[in-house]
Amino acid sequence: MRSIDESHDPRRVSWVASAQGHAEFPIQNLPFGVFSPAGGSPRGGVAIGDQILELRAALEAGIFSGEAARAAEAAAGPSLNPLMACGKNARLALRRGVSALLSADGPDRAKIEPLAARLLHNAADCTLHLPATIGSFTDFFAGIHHARNGGMRRDPNNPLNPNYKYVPVAYHSRASSVRPSGVPIRRPSGQRKAINEDAPSFGRAQKLDYELELAVWIGPGNELGEPIPIAEAGDHVFGLGLVNDWSARDVQGWESQPLGPFLAKNFGTTVSPWVITSEALAPFRVAQPPRPAGDPQPLPYLWDDADQQTGAFDIALEALLLTEGLRSKGLPPHRMSASNTTDLYWTLAQLVAHHTCGGCNLAPGDLFGTGTISGPTPEGYGSLMELSADGQRQIVLASGETRTFLQNGDEVIFRAHCRKAGCTPIGFGECRARVV
Ligand code: MN
Repeated sequence: MRSIDESHDPRRVSWVASAQGHAEFPIQNLPFGVFSPAGGSPRGGVAIGDQILELRAALEAGIFSGEAARAAEAAAGPSLNPLMACGKNARLALRRGVSALLSADGPDRAKIEPLAARLLHNAADCTLHLPATIGSFTDFFAGIHHARNGGMRRDPNNPLNPNYKYVPVAYHSRASSVRPSGVPIRRPSGQRKAINEDAPSFGRAQKLDYELELAVWIGPGNELGEPIPIAEAGDHVFGLGLVNDWSARDVQGWESQPLGPFLAKNFGTTVSPWVITSEALAPFRVAQPPRPAGDPQPLPYLWDDADQQTGAFDIALEALLLTEGLRSKGLPPHRMSASNTTDLYWTLAQLVAHHTCGGCNLAPGDLFGTGTISGPTPEGYGSLMELSADGQRQIVLASGETRTFLQNGDEVIFRAHCRKAGCTPIGFGECRARVV
């Protein structure tokens, strides 16, 4: 394991009391985001327990110095793009600085704790924004179980396209319609044509679906024409979050031939607002699961021994649904599925290396979706199209309601947690939005 330091030490506790045992944001996590306090403008911060540390206030209090101060300056504004551009060493210096600042046995605690009212905001009173200005959004298809489930209706004997195990398949998606958690999603209208219909019609999408995906936030980019080698690709990943790649299946089925999704996906995408840094995730790196016997070896530009050994992540994912019926009965959200990022067929470094292998330039703040992360069995299916077999199977909720696809008022909630013996568990916070 690389980059494990005192900031990951499970014995480290914070003087911010709510951070102890916090399921998402203990002091070992320290994710970056952009928030506004009530009546204030957007600014960079770090989640700690149920509070947000304001980086500008910490800078003004003279708490950071050297590289940590430069990185805090880059992270203090209304978007994290300048911090994302800085690269790994700056991120690391800032993480260590923030960890020391918030640590109960930090060297400057006596000086810092009296400033708490200036440094901290109640997260519940703040508005969270997109963490970055997103120049480009690319959605991959790296969840092999989802790809297989999607292809079953086309050809049950060969559900995966012949390129699947060679090419990390993706399409260029729409950056302008990405919104942070909490912003409602409007059901889109579009052209639909079912297989048994002779002609298309225009109207509200009837097969509105969600897709449970990991968000990959790009840090330093590359010059146009200069591919990122696989061995360096991991250092271009700033951090991770959650993506809901909302999908109108009836629109998608008709429009996608042959160029792939367009209006079926561009009406809205939801991301979780906190970016869990590559450094925070270091203890939860694992080997990429070996390819099943008979699968082809990736081409050399996609292969790196170190990436295979530590380039995957063990992140438990959950998709939940909260309906009007559950709400009115006081019932909790219904858990639709649970899967894990080890269900991805490609590592994140392979996605970066592939995206740039022809010379395409990535920029700080670019967003990747990994593709829907489904587990191998129905309990792990990360979309309703899979869970309902494209509408043929009713899903029964604890309220007695049934679903095949989403109804208005439904709220989709994604959560993610990293747990490992000897480590403090960390979470991603929620990615949630209601269909209206
Ligand atoms: Mn997707």
